[in-house]
Amino acid sequence: DVTPEKPAAAPSDTGPEVEISSRDRVVFPESGQTKGQLADYYETVAPIMLPFLARRPVSLVRCPQGRAKKCFFQKHDAGSFGQHVHAVPISEKDGGTEDYLYVEDGAGILGCVQMGTIEFHGWGSHVADVEKPDRMVFDLDPDEGLDFADVRRAARDIHDRLSDIGLVSFAMLSGGKGVHVVVPLTPGHDWDTHKDFSRRFAEALSLAEPDRFTANMSKAKRKGKIFIDYLRNQRGSTAVMPYSARAREGAPVAVPIAWGELKKMKDARLHSIDDAKRLLARAQSKGLAGWGFAEQTLPEV
Ligand code: ATP
Ligand code: MN
Ligand code: MN
Repeated sequence: DVTPEKPAAAPSDTGPEVEISSRDRVVFPESGQTKGQLADYYETVAPIMLPFLARRPVSLVRCPQGRAKKCFFQKHDAGSFGQHVHAVPISEKDGGTEDYLYVEDGAGILGCVQMGTIEFHGWGSHVADVEKPDRMVFDLDPDEGLDFADVRRAARDIHDRLSDIGLVSFAMLSGGKGVHVVVPLTPGHDWDTHKDFSRRFAEALSLAEPDRFTANMSKAKRKGKIFIDYLRNQRGSTAVMPYSARAREGAPVAVPIAWGELKKMKDARLHSIDDAKRLLARAQSKGLAGWGFAEQTLPEV
């Protein structure tokens, strides 16, 4: 239910730049967190989130009445997000141009939260050159009924195969059901090359182990298997950003993890928006220093 807007004088510790209204509105009804708590979460993790999120075109999952009511993906600038949320014109397939959203600082993140945003999803490229991807992601989507142990093993196998061809990769718990294996890349190649590489990689894996993997999106072909969703790697696609909250029960967040930690994970929901301080501390730890960054290019394979 909607709480009426608080008077402007209501205390707020979200910084001087962005006013968060309706701080008491419950966004996560099952666990009780409010819009104010969500804003505080993002304010705290902004320093560790921005290295990944800043200046990428973003799609937002907005749930203005909370996660249990109507939510929608928003990718175009509607001009209503305030001065800290920016627009970048990007050409469309049909020859036209659309304004996409991006942020570059904590105020930008909070400007989105003020508008009911829960999740931040980013392109695989930056606004400085949207045609040159710099991030590949293999989104592991297990069929219902598969164990998380299967997902862990799949992520590790992808890591090893990438390593065999000289690529450093990183693991992220999605906050939902799966794991994302992230490959940072120095920009240079185009989107066709990017998608083609990821498709061939996923197809090679599913050919080698057809009982465990599929590179085919169809649910029917996923029975008992893990879908290696390489389609995140096409121009215009997005993937959930590190430290984004998820609009799911319990307010989980997408969490970078070290490869050594993965073995201990029981599911893809390690932390929630209640754990901002813990996430900050984790990010300083030895295992996570440098997570998500590497200077490397796609090999010829
Ligand atoms: P899970 O681990 O539960 O699969 P996920 O974030 O990987 O969580 P997916 O459904 O696999 O969720 O989607 C992968 C990505 O595709 C999302 O993170 C999001 O960026 C993008 N995506 C999914 N659905 C949509 C949609 N309706 N519109 C735009 N982008 C979407
Ligand atoms: Mn997924
Ligand atoms: Mn997916």
